[in-house]
Amino acid sequence: MQHPKIVKNFICILSLSCLGFFSTAAGTFSPDDRNKKPDDDKKAKIKRDDTTKQVIQSEMLAEAGDESIDTVQILFPSHDLYSSWDTSMAHPYHFYEAFKGDSVIITLTQTADCGFSMPFRGGITSEFGWRKYRPHYGTDIDLETGDSVVNAFDGMVRMAKYCSGYGNCVIVRHNNGLETVYGHLSKIMVEPGQTVTAGGALGLGGNTGRSSGSHLHFEMRYLGQALDTEDFLDYSKGTLKTNTFTLRKSDVENKYDLRALHSRHKRDIGLTRAERKSGKYVKGGKSFKGIYKIRSGDSLGTIARKNHTTVKALCKKNGLKLTSKLRPGQKLKI
Ligand SMILES: [Zn+2]
Repeated sequence: MQHPKIVKNFICILSLSCLGFFSTAAGTFSPDDRNKKPDDDKKAKIKRDDTTKQVIQSEMLAEAGDESIDTVQILFPSHDLYSSWDTSMAHPYHFYEAFKGDSVIITLTQTADCGFSMPFRGGITSEFGWRKYRPHYGTDIDLETGDSVVNAFDGMVRMAKYCSGYGNCVIVRHNNGLETVYGHLSKIMVEPGQTVTAGGALGLGGNTGRSSGSHLHFEMRYLGQALDTEDFLDYSKGTLKTNTFTLRKSDVENKYDLRALHSRHKRDIGLTRAERKSGKYVKGGKSFKGIYKIRSGDSLGTIARKNHTTVKALCKKNGLKLTSKLRPGQKLKI
């Protein structure tokens, strides 16, 4: 039997959260979990809370009749892209879900259903890129504990809880296919399954999780792949740089896949195991920690790639312009 309102084979999600059954049905989330302090649940068991188990086919919905379809049927945003809706894990995506095409055009806002708002207007204290021992998949924005943090694009809260590293964290799935992550909050003010518009309050800024000093750790991800938020947002103006963003496979491989880039970098510069462990040397330019000695043929681009940073960051740290001439032997701060 086919219900007239439902397109054949259209997969629908029965979101129990909207009916207030979330904590009992899904088992792992309760509102009290949302504002834990660091260490509160370090020993807590990580349990998947994948509500896509409640996926029901159109045929099943059709059995239910008009009234119940209207009240129980809800689609999570970008359900055509993602095969899961997990409210307990920050990064539940498997490899098979990752972006594998050559390129995709992401339309960030559509006046009808998806606006934009800067999560917080503040200075950048740390950029997307490799840190000493680990990747930094977000952009850190300076704020004071208690400052209001708002949602970037229209969407639905997927996760809102304390989790290690991020501290109190909110993740929103958007209608444009992206997910945004808001970490280190002092207070969470939303629940999974809640519809949020751009500019809607998500919580208060703070210093929870792996954080030294109050700031917002903000990430933008597409199918789990972290992207550099500065490619999308103009932090000085508080606006989007573009409304249509083309994500290319080559960009993922050469710019965004920080772990793969870091391994490639270590292999390329031929560090010994001991050197890699000590983290003290950056070969290639025969330089000490944090300093790169320019060799002939180097450009800002090649130096940035070798040292796992960006041309922009190099220019900023060394007071250079894109057009500055580099001389062999010159030392650059990395
Ligand atoms: Zn961060």
